[in-house]
Amino acid sequence: MRAIRFHGKHDLRLEEVPEPTPGAGQVKLRIGYAGICGSDLHTYYSPEHSGTDYTVPHPVTGAELPQILGHEFAGEVVDVGSGVSAERIGQRVAVWPIYGCGHCFACDGGTDNACIDATFHGVASDGGGFSEFTVVPESQLHVLPAKVDLKLGALVEPMAVAWHAARAAGDLRDRSVLVIGGGPIGIGLWHALRLQGAAQVVVSEPSAGRRDVLAGLGAELLHDPFTPDAADELGRIAGGGPFDAIFDAAGSGPALNNALPRLRPLGTLVVVALHEKAFDFDPTVLVLGERRVLGVHGYTHEDYDQVIDAMSAGHYRTDGWVETAPLTAVESSIHGLRNGDGSKILIEVAR
Ligand SMILES: [Zn+2]
Ligand SMILES: [Zn+2]
Repeated sequence: MRAIRFHGKHDLRLEEVPEPTPGAGQVKLRIGYAGICGSDLHTYYSPEHSGTDYTVPHPVTGAELPQILGHEFAGEVVDVGSGVSAERIGQRVAVWPIYGCGHCFACDGGTDNACIDATFHGVASDGGGFSEFTVVPESQLHVLPAKVDLKLGALVEPMAVAWHAARAAGDLRDRSVLVIGGGPIGIGLWHALRLQGAAQVVVSEPSAGRRDVLAGLGAELLHDPFTPDAADELGRIAGGGPFDAIFDAAGSGPALNNALPRLRPLGTLVVVALHEKAFDFDPTVLVLGERRVLGVHGYTHEDYDQVIDAMSAGHYRTDGWVETAPLTAVESSIHGLRNGDGSKILIEVAR
């Protein structure tokens, strides 16, 4: 079968590799779509800062390079291993792709996403989504309802990242929140926060193109952080008041420092972005007003179920920010995303 394998920094290859066979408790999927994630860009351009040490076998999965990338995918079950009902064959599924260590505080509590050693199927594992077939544990499948096609199914993973982040801030019904960054996770937050009841969701995003996409989806409270009087403008858009919660979906230190004083007392800043660079930060802004900072990573199975339900109810729109490309275009798409072209690219594996 054809697969995109990562061999090391700046080295992705479209290769012919053996088709996987499902073992006990596993299913084999024919991949429909697999999304390119910001973290795939980190892996490709700076694996040494990607959070995965590719110079040694992964401590949980034992995976080594070359690695088939792609952790945001949906497909159809085409074969099952021993112990899995043949009734699975033909099911269309999204895959919860986290592999935790299984024996730490986080994993014991069923929150493998918070396991320090956790990795993802398609980051450091046997196989990944940028391939014709892959094999995963049956326990990680989420069946897609009729109204959620494989394309939307491949968006469950990134939308669950945002859904999880939104839930982490607590009950935001009737609240006013700020999202920093209007990329795919910012778009996911805009959907999730409104669906979870926030009254006012302001998105701050420097790219006019990305603000246009959000406007096209129906977002009305859009802020340009590079406008000359950006701070006043943000106050005006938000109606003058502080925010009950702020979400960092941009990974920009200066943007975060500018936004924090706008967080109300006891409000929460949720960091969902990976920061490539450390930055100066004055904790006094947390002491005054007892503001909190919370990091989030991945999602639980419950987040997956809730996103799939919301998708099935027709609440997620993909116009203007989701495009498709063939398997041969993974590397060129990564280059394009680095240059600011496009937002979410789904690889249509069979194309
Ligand atoms: Zn991702
Ligand atoms: Zn663990």
